[in-house]
Amino acid sequence: MNIPDTNNSRIVIIGGGFAGVNLAKSLANKNVQVVLVDKHNYHTFQPLLYQVSSSGLEPDSIAYPLRKIIKKHKNSFFRLAEVEQILPESNEIITSIGHLTYDYLVIATGTKTNYFGNKAIESNSMPMKSVPQALDIRSLILENFEKAAIANSEAEREAFLNFVIVGAGPTGVELAGAIAELKNNILPRDYHDLNPEDMHIHLLEGADRVLPPMSEHASKKAEMFLKRLGVKVSCNTIVKHYDGTTVTTNAGLAMESETLIWAAGVTGAPIHGLKPEAIMERVNRYNVNRFNQVDEYANIFAIGDIALMPTEAYPKGHPQVAQPAIQQGNLLGKNLLRLIDNKPLKPFVYKDKGSMATIGRNKAVVDLKHYKFGGFFAWFIWMFVHLMSLVGFRNRVIVLFNWTYNYINFDKAARLIIRPFKK
Ligand SMILES: Cc1cc2nc3c(=O)[nH]c(=O)nc-3n(C[C@H](O)[C@H](O)[C@H](O)COP(=O)(O)OP(=O)(O)OC[C@H]3O[C@@H](n4cnc5c(N)ncnc54)[C@H](O)[C@@H]3O)c2cc1C
Repeated sequence: MNIPDTNNSRIVIIGGGFAGVNLAKSLANKNVQVVLVDKHNYHTFQPLLYQVSSSGLEPDSIAYPLRKIIKKHKNSFFRLAEVEQILPESNEIITSIGHLTYDYLVIATGTKTNYFGNKAIESNSMPMKSVPQALDIRSLILENFEKAAIANSEAEREAFLNFVIVGAGPTGVELAGAIAELKNNILPRDYHDLNPEDMHIHLLEGADRVLPPMSEHASKKAEMFLKRLGVKVSCNTIVKHYDGTTVTTNAGLAMESETLIWAAGVTGAPIHGLKPEAIMERVNRYNVNRFNQVDEYANIFAIGDIALMPTEAYPKGHPQVAQPAIQQGNLLGKNLLRLIDNKPLKPFVYKDKGSMATIGRNKAVVDLKHYKFGGFFAWFIWMFVHLMSLVGFRNRVIVLFNWTYNYINFDKAARLIIRPFKK
């Protein structure tokens, strides 16, 4: 992989997500060699993927080159490669571009979409975990509008204009709100040959309320906001089958739709090679101790979504959201330097900064530890937090410009089928 030999310890980080990037930053210009490996050459700001899917933002405003993040780190290298296997006996990884040895290995590979073993749904639905997948959804939505405009029958038009989103966690809720805005603001202006009333957005959730990870207060408000936007919310509803045209649920409901967006769950993305005991099979996350050290391995660590660290406060592990990944990345950087200096390590303690979700313009819900609220102020806070969390000044400026433009004009400017999606 053409990484120079070094007398310093070599720390290999697999994955340039929130966890891996923050770890790399905390090791910048220290007396260690850092090799960051990712199958993409950019960091993805996943919380705003739904805005790419719904034509609100261009993809390059939520992605950032990994090489640019580490460009001032004289001790760091980036390699564009997929890690295929770990050989813990020889302290080596096998990647799509060759082998590399490590002194310390950090796995920060995040999660992948969980279809719960349903092959039909996996083949026919649209996941939203990456920039290319978000672009596929954008293309499909716009292609369906075009096909609806030339449909030969009402039934055909209905199927093109029926959008089904499965999973009413923050991702599903935010996407449903954004697609409803396409219906309410874009369809009437751009598609005179379509009746907006013919477009339906269905949000299906297996639990008994939307936003199950958030408070009941947030769920109630979010459902009210969604209904006001015209989204049809169905809780206690599990999708059993989807063949590309018909969605079938546990309630016996059958619905014609050309678009089923799967936001119903994720599972870890572990890499082949470690002992089976190191992985909690049900969730595919590495079992780690309070220092993010993978069970049974002294020099292998896992951080972020892929790490399962049960604590008293979080017996089932930390939530798979950005903050634990960021905080674990930061702490592990300091702990690795302590480990190398033979100093005692500091255990990880998660500082919960709250959770939030937005549901279209002017509406959001925020859960803080002692205070829960929704509405315009929550939406303002949501915007500020997401803007400030984006990587890169340029991205922040572009996103702010786009949001302001869209807000004033009720527009979603990125309505382009650049790369048509073939079902
Ligand atoms: C649509 C969506 C919306 C979300 N919204 C929110 C939100 O609003 N708020 C919030 O806090 N959280 C949100 N999350 C969750 C949040 O994005 C994750 O918790 C966070 O990204 C986890 O960070 P991570 O570093 O563990 O993994 P990731 O950010 O997923 O990064 C993993 C990295 O590893 C790389 N990788 C994986 N396997 C390999 C391999 N074998 N070889 C090389 N590279 C590999 C990937 O390319 C990726 O860059 C959302 C997630 C999604 C999908």
